[in-house]
Order: sequence, then structure tokens, then C-alpha cells
Amino acid sequence: MVNRSAFDRVIQAGGFISVNTGGAPDGNAVPVPKTDSDLAMDAAACIGCGACVAVCKNASAMLFVAAKVSHLNLLPQGKVEKDRRVLNMVRQMDAEGFGNCTVTGSCEAVCPKEISLSFIAKMNRDYGVAILKGK
Ligand code: SF4
Repeated sequence: MVNRSAFDRVIQAGGFISVNTGGAPDGNAVPVPKTDSDLAMDAAACIGCGACVAVCKNASAMLFVAAKVSHLNLLPQGKVEKDRRVLNMVRQMDAEGFGNCTVTGSCEAVCPKEISLSFIAKMNRDYGVAILKGK
């Protein structure tokens, strides 16, 4: 049995969009570039299995968190909370005690959903931008 509650808390920290209008807008009403929608779907394929953490010599959860941050940050519906999302999810990841990423690539190699390491680079960029904005 695997305790995945740390993953659940990371998701709770930012894996959502806030809709304050009483209802979710029609997804088809918002145009999304094909490249963005394809990338978002690639990231959304993460099933939160934890194989990436298990194989990592640092017990880093960066691939999982990057996938969860990216699949919302890439879409117009998620961009509104982009900065807050990446900061909160990374903070929660750190609070859970996961290790730091040293880019060994073992996570990508074992991921059953072929989540790319490039999502970690994207998350780092998003995080840097959010920090620079002083969020
Ligand atoms: S191994 Fe892949 S699918 Fe599993 S949690 Fe990590 S990124 Fe997600």
C-alpha cells in the first residue's frame, strides 16, 4: 500500500481553478492554441502514481508537481491564478519534505504516462516569474 496523501495536499494547494460566476464557462467558448492544448493534455495525463518519486535518488516530486502545475497554467482558464498556483504548489511540495531535483532524468524514464522533463523546466520558469512579480 502506498500513502499518497502528500500528493493530495499538493493538489489541494493549487490544482484547481476558481470560478466565482456561479458556473463553469463553456470550454468551447474559449479559443486555445492547438500547441497549448496538446501540451496541457500531455501534462494532464499524469495519474499521480508516484513512480517518479520512488525512483528518484533525491525523492523529488518535481515531475508530478510540474505536470499538475503545467496542465492548468497552460490554459486560459488557469492563467488567472498561474502565479499563485505555482508558488503554493511548490511551497506545499517543499513542506511535504520531497527532495530537490538534480535532473537525473530517472523520473521521466519510469513515468508510465511519459511526462516530459521539459515540464519541470516550465514550472521553474513559471516559479521564477511569480517570484519576480513579488507574489
Ligand atoms: S511517474 Fe508520471 S504519471 Fe506517475 S506521478 Fe510521476 S509524473 Fe505522474
